[in-house]
This record gives sequence, structure tokens and C-alpha cells, in this order.
Amino acid sequence: MKKLFVVSAIALAVITGCAQQSPVQLESSAQKQQAAAIVVSPNDQRAYKTLTLPNQLEVILVSDPTTEKSAVSLSVGAGMLQDPMTQQGLAHYLEHMLFMGTERYPDPAEYAAFFSQHNGAYNAYTWLDITNYMFEINNHVYDEALDRFSDFFKSPKFYPEYSDKERNAVNAEHSMRREQDFLAQFELMRRMFGDHPSNRFLAGSLESLSDKPGSILHEEMLAFYDRYYSANNMKLAMISNRSLAEMELLARQHFSGIENKDIALPTVTAELDNSLFGGKRIHYVPNQDVKQLRLDFTIRDNSDQYAVKPNEFIAYLLRSEMPGTAAAQLIASGLVSSFNVSVNPDLYGNYGNLSIDMNLTDAGMQQREAITAMVMQYLDLIKQQGVDEQYYQEIKTSLANQFQFLEKTDGFGYASNLTASMLKRPVQHAIAAPFIYERFDAEAIEQVLAQLTPDNLRVWYISQQEPHDSELVRHVGKYKIVDIPAEEMAAWQQPQLALNLPQVNRLLPESFAIKARAEQQKPELVVEHNGIAAWLYPSQVFSDQPRGRLDIVLNSPAAQNDINARVAFALWRDLYNLEQSALRTEARVAGIGVWLSDGNGLTLNLDGFTDKQPLLLEQLLAGLTPTITETGFSQAVDRYVRGLANQSRQVPFRQAFWAFNSLYRGGNYNPEQLIAAAQAMTPDDLTAFIAGTLAANQVRVFAFGNYDQQDVQTLVSKLDAALPANRTTTPYAQSPFWKPAAGETLVLNRDIHVTDVALIDMHVHPEQGMAVRAAASVLASHFSNQAFDTLRTEEQLAYAVGGTAIDLNDYTGFGLYIQTPVKGPADMQQRFEDFKHQYWQRLQQVTPEQFAALQQSLLISLKEPPKNLQEEMRPLVSDWYRERFDFDSRERLIAAVEQVTLADVQAFYQQTLLNPEAARMSVQMRGTAFSEQPFATLPNQQLVTDLAEFQRRMATQ
Ligand SMILES: [Zn+2]
Repeated sequence: MKKLFVVSAIALAVITGCAQQSPVQLESSAQKQQAAAIVVSPNDQRAYKTLTLPNQLEVILVSDPTTEKSAVSLSVGAGMLQDPMTQQGLAHYLEHMLFMGTERYPDPAEYAAFFSQHNGAYNAYTWLDITNYMFEINNHVYDEALDRFSDFFKSPKFYPEYSDKERNAVNAEHSMRREQDFLAQFELMRRMFGDHPSNRFLAGSLESLSDKPGSILHEEMLAFYDRYYSANNMKLAMISNRSLAEMELLARQHFSGIENKDIALPTVTAELDNSLFGGKRIHYVPNQDVKQLRLDFTIRDNSDQYAVKPNEFIAYLLRSEMPGTAAAQLIASGLVSSFNVSVNPDLYGNYGNLSIDMNLTDAGMQQREAITAMVMQYLDLIKQQGVDEQYYQEIKTSLANQFQFLEKTDGFGYASNLTASMLKRPVQHAIAAPFIYERFDAEAIEQVLAQLTPDNLRVWYISQQEPHDSELVRHVGKYKIVDIPAEEMAAWQQPQLALNLPQVNRLLPESFAIKARAEQQKPELVVEHNGIAAWLYPSQVFSDQPRGRLDIVLNSPAAQNDINARVAFALWRDLYNLEQSALRTEARVAGIGVWLSDGNGLTLNLDGFTDKQPLLLEQLLAGLTPTITETGFSQAVDRYVRGLANQSRQVPFRQAFWAFNSLYRGGNYNPEQLIAAAQAMTPDDLTAFIAGTLAANQVRVFAFGNYDQQDVQTLVSKLDAALPANRTTTPYAQSPFWKPAAGETLVLNRDIHVTDVALIDMHVHPEQGMAVRAAASVLASHFSNQAFDTLRTEEQLAYAVGGTAIDLNDYTGFGLYIQTPVKGPADMQQRFEDFKHQYWQRLQQVTPEQFAALQQSLLISLKEPPKNLQEEMRPLVSDWYRERFDFDSRERLIAAVEQVTLADVQAFYQQTLLNPEAARMSVQMRGTAFSEQPFATLPNQQLVTDLAEFQRRMATQ
């Protein structure tokens, strides 16, 4: 929830220069000793050093000789809470303006161009108490990139002439999120806080960021920078392939010059008056069709108690779905379909919240008072009997296991998280804080429990049927606030049902033994038995990890031809996930993720520590046929129907990509047809479908990680035993791809229930093959950057915009996408057409050196060694699902990229975006603000109004 206000979308990109790397030096033992100051996972092989520069800037250095890209993050300990009330959104606006030129690099366009040239990405975000800036770039230009980046904090230009542009950008960003329910509810939560500083406009708009009597925007921004951008109020993290000594030199050289104004660190001390919000019920009408109940307790910030974890302890007990707990009983009785608990102790600065969120069934909607009472009763049970050391031991073990095998993540996010963490806690715990559990501290737990009272409680009734008498100002949402009647609160004291606290977790790993395994070049088919085929691939890069992931696929061709089968798989998945919810929660605590998904059949995934996976799998397979009652079935249909209907209320450019992806692959159906099919289905239909599918299918398993052949053998036997003995094997089904033909133009238009317009415009290259894919891949980032610079930065047409290459199996698509609050579909399409020609001029100016750098940059990314198991597996499992059993798609792409020339990419561009004969796909989502404006009409367009009808007759590859 933190990274909401993100600027400058991601400039990915191009290059010049060679991929020359700095020599990696061995760390001296003195450096290793200093690294001991910061607590890191035993699984983390990188070298660390912490230091404080003479200007009091605190720094973490991370040396990772294997990384291909270097990253940096700098956090400022000030944000929206520090905005003057006359210029709300100022911290966020300043974050945007900071990118617009500095003393040493006065051209505002230079930063983006540099990152575009060197395969870099940069970003920033602003939140209540932090403003964070970061980038990642190819190693060899780290020094130059740091020179630009650090100058933001020494001598920004803050040209007044860029003010309107960035005010518009901030405004577009806010406008894009006005309809998001969780932001709207966050506004209301703070709106009830009277004059507490968190009650203000966070993002900002054209109106809030403007000159007013006694408050000139530009002057206020300069004053804000002057006041809070001080080295003693900043944290820095650097990650690179260089040695710690080299990185320390870079840190000193670039960041020692940031002025230390020795400011008092900003804090919020205002007391909340809980009579303003406590004991209230909020009837809330959201944009999405949801049925939710939320118990929201406001608590004091206790994030300094991270080492004794009172919040995690309480949340652990509350969210447990072990038999007899509140969550277990509510789910089992069909009142609640999901039960989540979250704690954000500093959400409002010096206060935060503990929130219990439930999705309700229709039966639950009739019982909201009783459900509330039951949760309050369970909370009382925790207060009386739950503060027990046995739970401490369990949580501690779970966290310690996670930390012992903590995996590496991408440098960009890692650097950013480090500096956010450094603002909150001592540097030696910047990494370990979420995992440390020093001791059982009953007093700390009781202090939080003592605040979980009706006085601090808001109960949210969220649905489209709620009464309302007020509307939000900055977001879209209606509501009505009432006092919770005294008699209702009194009823919370009456026992509702027999409840009990959780039992001991059975799935915590007891062994981290590593299976003996041979070196293997690629996944191998190791077992074939009775219609079940299993592939095994032990990790080659992380062979010391006691983890693994299973993809168990119950494949069926039914969903390709039958809309009822498509719906039945989705309902089956939903009922199974719900029925297994307790087991899945227990597994998650033990470090194993479990989920079932649907498509051409069902896929069961297990991911995590392998020790207890066999035990878990046995139980998961025993429940493969869920219990289907009349009520449970209709609740599942209700969730399915609302889920589909809610898609039309999502962010438009996401809707556009969903629609786009459903266009070119078979087995898709219009949402309204799926809804009708679901509403016509009966429990008996589903029961019969499940029995039929279990009796006729093809089962495939992909085992990746800490498994050996014996494990896979055992797994196949278990699967075989769990399925009917007399089953038949069906052919393996994949969704077919549309086969594009010259002159063919598919257009999918939809009116959506949100305001903006979203467009996707793709041209398909006439030829198949890897050479075409390689040309598209080299060109994509350059093209996307130009689209971003032109359509967003210069013309302010959108917040989300770019170009992309699309994998259409053997074919490749290339084109543009945008979400715009400014233009209707036809006008926007016209702008796209002009841009395609403008870009061609630009592409012809690319020099051979620039092209070589572009190509080299992509190769660096493609060849980068995986940082974790997930990254190692991704390309292999993707080939596996498509039956590309040579498992060499990535290698073939690399080989093809090495052969691409500048002439090739220019020809590619001419053959796609400038080729009137190229096959095309256009998706146009028309928002409510543009309902009077026309859709774009393309030459020879074929309107697809019925997906299934189109896909029945489309040519396939
Ligand atoms: Zn922003």
C-alpha cells in the first residue's frame, strides 16, 4: 500500500558503450568484520558495510559480484504529513519537480535520456512519512548515474516553467486513482480524525497545488526542500558488483556534498480524539460490487517494538483458521468466504490500525451483527487466554525459517526497501527487523490488546446496498456514519458460540535436508504411469535450498469448446480453495504456499519448504472433490458473477490488457455469456462435471527444486491413488493462438464503468520465428521510452503509456498502449497514428553505436543469472506448459538477439507499424467521461463482439 504515488513510470532501456565491468576484488577481513554489524540471512552471500558520512548521512553498501545491474535508493524522512495545509500534495509535487534538472545537469530531459541510453530504470514515491528515490542501471555507468542522481539533493534547478507540467502530472495520477475503493476508504478513515495531521489531501491536484493569498506554490516548495531535505534526515543504500571499498569511495564522492542542516527530525505528536471515530459504524457504498465487513481498530504507533512483535502475535491468533477459531467457524458456517488481518502501526504517523477484513456471503450479509459479536468474543478469548508462550515459539520458528533461507530479490526494490527500513529502525536491523523475535513479551502484547476496544473501533458495512447521506470529496464513494447502539455493544459481552484458540501447527519443517541430485541440463520426464507424466528439475543455481515448487496439472480439453466447462472449472477452484482454506493458512505459516487455479483444467501449486509437502499433498488430494451444497454452490456463483462484473470497474488499462489477451487465444468468452452460464448452472451439473473430469483427463507434474526421483515417484503414486482407477486419458489441451493474416484487423470495443479511456494498438509482423521476436525485443524499450517521453512527459496525455512487444506464439505483435483522461478513443487513435510516423524519423537517426548499446543492454538482461528459485524456474516452466520440451526458448532468443542488426530493427518497424497490410489488433475501452465520443474506426476492421463466435471460426496456428 505504500508505493501508491509513483512518478515517472519506468524508463527502461537503451544503451551505448560496452558492457565493461569493474574488476571485482576480494573483500578484506576487516571489511567482513564490519559487515557483522548488520544482521543478514545466513543464505545471503553478499558483502555488507554500514557507515555514516561526515554530513550524518547513514549508508548501507551491498557488494554483489554476481549482479549485472547496480542500484541506489535515497529516502528522505519527510512526506505528505509535512505538507503545509495551504499546499496539500506538496511533498509529492516536489518529488516530481526534483527530476527536472540540476546545477551540473541543467537539461530536464537529460536524466531520462541517460537512463534510456543505459538500460536503466528509475522511480520515486511519496507517502505520509517518506519520500523515496531510486534507480537501477548497467554496472559500467553506475558512477555517471550516481553523479546525476546525487545532484538532485545538492542543487536542483526547480525551474518554475515546469510547474504546470508537473501539476498536471500529479493531477492525472490522482485522477487515475479516484475510483479505487481502498484509497477512497483511506480518505474516509482520515476524514474522521478532525484536525489530526493525517487528515489531508495526500496526492494533490491542480486545485490544491496552486497559488493562494499568502501561499505561493513555488516558494512553499523551495521552503519545504530547504527545511526537510537535509543529510541528517536521509538514508542511502547502494548495491553493485563493485567491492565495498570502491562503493564507499563512490558514496563519499557523490553524497558527502549533501548539506547537513542538522534539522530536528519531523515527528507527529498530535493526539487523536477517539470520540470522533470510536464506536462508529460506517455504511459504505464502494465502486466494486463487494460484500464486506471490517473491524478497524485505531492503535498507537508501536513500530519501535519490532523485536518483540506484539502486533504479529495478535494477528497470528486472530487470523488462524485452526478448528474452533473465529475464522474457522465463520467460514465453515458459510457466512464468510475470506478472513484477513493486517496491522499497520504507523499508518497515520503516530497512530496506525489493526484491521480484520471479511468477505461475506449473502447469508453473512444477514448476520453482520452476529459476526461482529463473534469476532469480539474471540478477541476476548485472546485477551483472557491467548497471551501464551507456546504461540511465541511457533511464530519465532516460522520467522526464523524464513530468515535462514531468505532469497535475493531485484536490486531496485531491495535498495528501496532498505532505505525505508533505515528510517524506522537501527541500521543493524534494517534487513532482519521483520524476522527477529527476541523474546516473549506479554506486557507489550497486552498493551496492544488493551487498545482493541469498542472505543477505538470502527465497524465498516461495505456493499452497494448500504444507506448513505454523504459523499467523499477527493475520491468516489458514498457513506453514512452512525453510532453503534449501546445494546449492540453490550451483546458483544454475551458468549455466542464455543470458540477456542489455535492448535499447534503440523506443517512446520523439521528437516532442511538437501536431496542428492545429479547435474541436469534441463527438466527431464522421469515418471510416466497410468496417464500421469512427471518432469523433474533440481535447481542448478540454488542447490542448497530446501525448497521446491510443484505444478500439478489436471488438464482437460473441455473448457476449449464448452462455456459451461469454463465456468465449472472456476466454481470448482473457488469451492476447493474455500474448503481448504484452513489447511492453506496452516501451510502458509509453515512456509509453503498452496493455490489452485483454473484454465484448461485445474492446476494445483505448492511452493516452499519441501519437508512436509508430502503430508500436505496427501490432505490436499483427499479433498479434490469439494462438498457441494445448494447454499455453498449459490454463494460460489455469486462470487463468480460479481468478480466478472467488477472487471468493468477496474483501472482501464488493465481492463484493456485483459480484453486484449482474451482476443487472440481460444477458449475465451464474453463476460455476460459467462455470467449467464453460471446463473443457469445447478449444483448437480457441477457435481457431474467434477466426476466426469476426474474420470477423463491428463495429469502432468513439474517438480522444480529440492526433490529427487523417488519423491516424484511417490507423488505420482499418490496422485494415481487419489484419482478414479478406471479413468481415461484425454489429449493435452492448450488454448490455440489466432493465426494472423495479411490485411486482417480485429477490433474489440467496450464501454466501461470508469471514467478514462484505454487503448491498445498492435500490429503483427507477417513472419514467424525467433529473428522477428529478437528484433522486436531490441526495439521495444527504445520505442516505449520515446512514447513515454512524447505522450506523457511532453504532451501530458496520460499517466500510463508505453510501447510493447507481444508474444503471439510463433508470431510477434508490436504497438502502443495508453490510459488517458484527456482524449476519446478516436482522437487518441489519431495521435497514435501520428506518433508512429514521428518515431520512424527518430529510429532512422539511431547510430550504429547507439544500436549496439541497445542490443548489448538487452543481452545483459537476458543473460543475467537468476536471483532466486522463481527466476530460475520461470523460463523453464513457461516452455513446459507450451510443450516446448527442448526448454531452450531463452537460449534461442539470446542467440537471435546476438544476430540482430540496426537494418533488421528498422525493417521490423516498417513491416509492423508502418505496414498497411500487417494484421492488427485494437482494443478500445471507452470510459464514462467519453461516452459521447466515437470509437476509432480502422481500415478493413472486423468488429469482434462475441469472442467465442470469433474464436470458433478464427484460423489458428
Ligand atoms: Zn507522482
